[in-house]
Amino acid sequence: MKELAQIASAVQVSSTMAMDMLAKQMKADGVDVVGFGAGEPDFDTPSHIKAAAIQAISGNVTRYTPATGTAALKEAVCLRMREDCGLEYEPSQVVVTSGAKHCVYIALRAVVDPGDEVILPAPFWVSYLELIKMAGGRPVVVTAQESAGFKMTAEQLAAAVTPKTKALILNNPCNPTGMVYSEEELKAIARVCVEKDIYVISDEIYYGLLYDRVKWVSFASLGEDVKERTILINGVSKSYAMTGWRIGYLLSKDKIAKVMGNYLSNSTGSPSSISQAASVAALTGPQDCVEEMRRAFEERRNYIVKRVNSMEGVSCLKPEGAFYIMMNVEKQLGRVLYGEVIRSSDDFSAALLKRGLVAAVPGGGFGAPGFLRWSYAASLDSIKKGMDRLEEFLKG
Ligand code: PMP
Ligand code: GLU
Repeated sequence: MKELAQIASAVQVSSTMAMDMLAKQMKADGVDVVGFGAGEPDFDTPSHIKAAAIQAISGNVTRYTPATGTAALKEAVCLRMREDCGLEYEPSQVVVTSGAKHCVYIALRAVVDPGDEVILPAPFWVSYLELIKMAGGRPVVVTAQESAGFKMTAEQLAAAVTPKTKALILNNPCNPTGMVYSEEELKAIARVCVEKDIYVISDEIYYGLLYDRVKWVSFASLGEDVKERTILINGVSKSYAMTGWRIGYLLSKDKIAKVMGNYLSNSTGSPSSISQAASVAALTGPQDCVEEMRRAFEERRNYIVKRVNSMEGVSCLKPEGAFYIMMNVEKQLGRVLYGEVIRSSDDFSAALLKRGLVAAVPGGGFGAPGFLRWSYAASLDSIKKGMDRLEEFLKG
């Protein structure tokens, strides 16, 4: 038989999804594993959102919708963007997809031709790298050091741009580091993007989860010249605990929205009509559920950061957004733990899972090989249990 397609064959499985599935399988097999793998809120979807979905089913809202989403959901997205981010978009500039993951893919398909370069600051969310390759692009990774707060500087960006650069992927607040760019830092990055004429795919899906009253601004709010080259990505998965509903959305200028809409009309057809109805309720209904969850995440962040930094040989920065920490395990490399030499964060993660019964994702897939990503989207009790186990494990 002929070979499978090269592009598809080169795609690696998502390491976050793989670790999550492994931990869930272990649990199902009766192993008492504590999971920090999944970047998924542990809360239930708020009841008024679920009620809207039930009503949609009873009311026979069960048919295809326009490929780019219902008028009601587009209006709701515009409303939320206006209230939360001070951004004005027309419903025609909104494209709804089956999850924000698909948004990234569609945005890349809209701007990338084979061989085009896409700049990706590391540490990055694992899927970006694979999605760039899936769209035929060439990822150009720019490493943001831990000592720089895991933030790429405008100078680093400018140095990475070549005549083949088509786009930059920005993720703010960031998965996996939880860091948040300041307005000044973003403005400096935006200046380079305008000057060098590159598109910006700005994934802002965690903007509802910010801590310490940190000031956050949307990349598209930095001026008309910035907005017109920005494709904003957002969704309901994180802020409303709706990961399984699969609704994400893109905001961009009309021409880009049209291209993405045409693409979607031939690929996914339309997102789930029921999930769209539920998302309208999420975006237009009471927002105190978001604040309640945000507060719980902040408490968990405070706890996990304190515990990690109280242990010998591991450390982490204090993130200002999302629900992840990057734990530095460089001091563990070369150690012999439980009879095995720890040569990489993969080894560390594997040993921690096997001996400590704690699941956290190794940093390699995030472009951060000396680190382990921990999602603290888990109950405070589980986090305590996991930290106790990590502490024991580190004793060797
Ligand atoms: N962007 C980032 C940065 C994420 O962490 C995630 C979570 N998987 C997504 C996009 C995708 O979210 P969704 O569940 O809507 O596909
Ligand atoms: N975004 C989450 C994570 O990073 C969910 C899993 C995934 O889609 O990667 O863990």
